[in-house]
Amino acid sequence: METLEFQSEARQLLQLMIHSIYSNKDTFLRELVSNASDALDKLRLESFRDKDMQVDVDDLHIVIESDPAERTLTVRDNGIGMTHEDVVRLIGTIAKSGTAEFLKQLKEQQSSTSDLIGQFGIGFYSSFMVADKVTLVTKYPHAEKGVRWESTGESTYTIEDVDDAPQGTSVTLHLKPSDDEDKLPDYTEPAKIREIVKRYSDFITWPVRLGGEDINSRKALWARPASEVTEEEYAEFYRHISHDWNAPLETIRMQAEGTFEYQALLFLPSQAPLDLFMRDGKRGVQLYVKRVFIMDDCAELMPEYLRFVKGVVDAADLSLNVSREILQQDRQIQLMRRRLVKKVLSSIKSLQSSRAEDYAKLWAEVGAALKEGLLSDADNRDAILEVCSFASTHSADSLTTLAEYVSRMKDGQEHIYFMTGDSRLAVENSPHLEALRAKDFEVLILTDPIDEMWVDSVPAFQGKPLQSVAKGQVDLETEEEKSAAAEKATEFADLLSWMASSLEENVKEVRLSTRLTTSPACVVGDAHDITPTLEKMYKAMGQ
Ligand code: ADP
Ligand code: MG
Repeated sequence: METLEFQSEARQLLQLMIHSIYSNKDTFLRELVSNASDALDKLRLESFRDKDMQVDVDDLHIVIESDPAERTLTVRDNGIGMTHEDVVRLIGTIAKSGTAEFLKQLKEQQSSTSDLIGQFGIGFYSSFMVADKVTLVTKYPHAEKGVRWESTGESTYTIEDVDDAPQGTSVTLHLKPSDDEDKLPDYTEPAKIREIVKRYSDFITWPVRLGGEDINSRKALWARPASEVTEEEYAEFYRHISHDWNAPLETIRMQAEGTFEYQALLFLPSQAPLDLFMRDGKRGVQLYVKRVFIMDDCAELMPEYLRFVKGVVDAADLSLNVSREILQQDRQIQLMRRRLVKKVLSSIKSLQSSRAEDYAKLWAEVGAALKEGLLSDADNRDAILEVCSFASTHSADSLTTLAEYVSRMKDGQEHIYFMTGDSRLAVENSPHLEALRAKDFEVLILTDPIDEMWVDSVPAFQGKPLQSVAKGQVDLETEEEKSAAAEKATEFADLLSWMASSLEENVKEVRLSTRLTTSPACVVGDAHDITPTLEKMYKAMGQ
């Protein structure tokens, strides 16, 4: 038997669980059942792929057992199990993307621990909210021996190989004493167990047994008539697949019949996933084939810029052996993906028109990701532009859509003006804005790094060209002003050519401008040059 130390991040999370003030402690059981269900999905899939695997997959299930005298609660599955290395890696360390971010936020705002737990989803470790010792016994099909792991959640755990472990995993919680100051409910009580499973895990497709009885209804939500499914059921299902502890902002259902049948159940989050902007963050939705789980994070079904969309797509006509390579080439899959994208965008659009506050929340959380689509998804560019919101000189504290901008355009204004920059303040103080301000033309203030990237690939919205105020000739003049300007140019010709030759090293051209009203001079880029902020970004990247 070996005694090993938890990795330091894991230790921090465990401390958080042991001293948890998170009020909804019942959720530990949801996490254990959810892990057991994942393990059964994996074993079934593995058995399709590997015909030589010597395991019985005819009666895959989850069993819950309790012993009131010993104050123990066990959740057992006959799923994929874990190898010795798996246990050390998966249970002894926290490899989840977003952990570092989570712990950082935790340090910064000690007070709202429970909200953060809600965002992060602690999984297996949540056992330590209700138990002072946890024992896990597990066996992986190809491993010779099983593994027994035990810990009190303090800094160390023990691990040893065992001979007699059955296929799968059992997790036994030694519940905290009943006189514990937390006043926990009696989790050994069958009625309590049944109630929690019903509430959180009813849709789990594998039987959950208690005292020989199946206690969940096992119906896939996406296969049930929409009118029969409650919001609470959707929310629990969302939590199961997204590992987010919040309720979703919006539930989207889709159904296609005919030559290529599928059903989709998708969710928009109320909070951005912590890994939204991490390179190793999760992408894509779950793929099922006729209720059988096939894969997580199926990026072939959802483009990268919609990576905040979670959910399930159940396709009737695919093989259970379908691989990512096949998915990438399948024309039906591409059609399906196109329809899913359109549906998601139209759902965001209807949120925008009917639930403005929820739309604003979504935009604040995931707008920066959504805008990536302006670059990568030319087919849906207009639909994406419609659901975008931007800061603008029109209002200091609310955002505007492009449609709203267009409706406010002045007579004679042909362009949608924008300026990119590091911050609102930097843009507002820029001399580039002066002439537009003088004309009372509205200017969009774009301060997300991604804004620098997409503005060049979006020519126009509703036929109105987008125009950077920091580039080229911003044409704001009437005919009269133009001839006056031409006169002035002749008048100042000597001065201009003298300035141009003195500044030869630094600028291409010196010309008179009508853009400025209070500043004497400003530097502008060529129409095809990169913007000042992008120039800075490239410099910062060493290019
Ligand atoms: P998550 O489920 O979000 O990955 P958890 O903390 O709940 O995080 O579980 C960590 C990992 O431990 C799982 O990803 C899985 O690989 C493994 N694991 C947990 N419970 C089981 C189980 N019952 N059977 C097999 N593997 C499990
Ligand atoms: Mg889990």
